[in-house]
Amino acid sequence: MPRINPHYQKLRAGYLFPEIGKRVRNFATAHPEARIIRLGIGDVVLPLPAPIVEAMKAGADEMGSQDTFRGYGPEQGYEFLLEAIAGAYHAQGANVAAEEIFVSDGSKCDTANIQEIFALDNVVALTDPVYPVYVDTNVMAGRTGEADDCGRYANLVYLPTTAENGFDPALPVGHVDIIYLCSPNNPTGAVMARASLARWVAYARKEGAVILFDAAYEAFIREPGLVHSIFEIPGSRDVAIEFRSFSKTAGFTGTRCAFTVIPRELCGHDASGAPVPLRGLWNRRHTTKFNGVSYPVQRAAVAVFSPEGSRAVQANIDYTMENARIIREGLAAAGYRVYGGENAPYIWLRVPAGVTSWDFFDRLLAEAHVVGTPGSGFGNCGEGYFRLSAFGLRENIEEAIERIRQKMHL
Ligand SMILES: *Cc1c(COP(=O)(O)O)cnc(C)c1O
Repeated sequence: MPRINPHYQKLRAGYLFPEIGKRVRNFATAHPEARIIRLGIGDVVLPLPAPIVEAMKAGADEMGSQDTFRGYGPEQGYEFLLEAIAGAYHAQGANVAAEEIFVSDGSKCDTANIQEIFALDNVVALTDPVYPVYVDTNVMAGRTGEADDCGRYANLVYLPTTAENGFDPALPVGHVDIIYLCSPNNPTGAVMARASLARWVAYARKEGAVILFDAAYEAFIREPGLVHSIFEIPGSRDVAIEFRSFSKTAGFTGTRCAFTVIPRELCGHDASGAPVPLRGLWNRRHTTKFNGVSYPVQRAAVAVFSPEGSRAVQANIDYTMENARIIREGLAAAGYRVYGGENAPYIWLRVPAGVTSWDFFDRLLAEAHVVGTPGSGFGNCGEGYFRLSAFGLRENIEEAIERIRQKMHL
């Protein structure tokens, strides 16, 4: 028998979503008449818009004809998609070139895999609460020690992100090498202000750190003037990598397409202290371990940038953000303290005093037959909070909020 990677044994078992599933199944078995509404998992529900489906079909037709058949494509993505993405960045005031973009099958994979190009002794900082992928992949790689009783791993720097600091994490005390930031944030729904991002860029420049910026939800920003890309911040090009995805933006969670941007000038250093461009390292990893996103899917992705495609995608985002408004205002009217939901599809609410996130989960399920996500599942500092997702059908959202107002008014 081969010896397993021992770092996997440090992982707190994938606890959150299995535990939610178990509690919902038990409740449903005991109460078969209950019509349960799920606002827990961050998955989209609206079908792909017609212009995007048409583009995917046209791509499939090309694959079925001798003249237009294609085998392996460029691992980094087809030029037509890279150029469209670069153009979208320019329209947002960010300077990104096609050759700095790497198309992939998801931001989960990209944010998970990026740590491979960094040495194991780098100090990693992340927010608490956090998207669990950033933590677990560093544990698997062996960059952390064991978890303590609170589930915090040794050697990671946790940055508390709570109502007390306006969901705007303070800079680390001392030096860190790698910083994960996610804005608009999953799970808190908060957006980092321009000044706050500028502070992080200045810190990274001073400390020689790299910021891994997850912008999976940038398309949900409503307020003009808020930052969509870290590359809108002057000085960011030699300290930041950005991740974006078509998953939430355009309903691609089951279609799979995303991309990572690594600017040409961004470097790490080798053992002798000499600079090494990270773009080249990532290119080496990407071309060794990945063979590109399928042609019909890249055709579908580029249709997101066409006039009809972007109008349709925008209409779906508007629909989701109207759901977010209904949830936010409904909960506030029922006496809850609510955060997020204005520039992000997540509403982060304070559970009533003296109640844990899991207690609230059970009450919400028992009394309103609504499923959400306990904040403590995203980290220690998520205790006392609860996440509701705005990805849902309007009638379900309205009914869920009506039940909460009637049965769980504070
Ligand atoms: C949904 C999500 C992603 C996107 O993941 P894909 O693999 O592209 O579907 C990335 N980051 C965060 C924080 C997310 O919630």
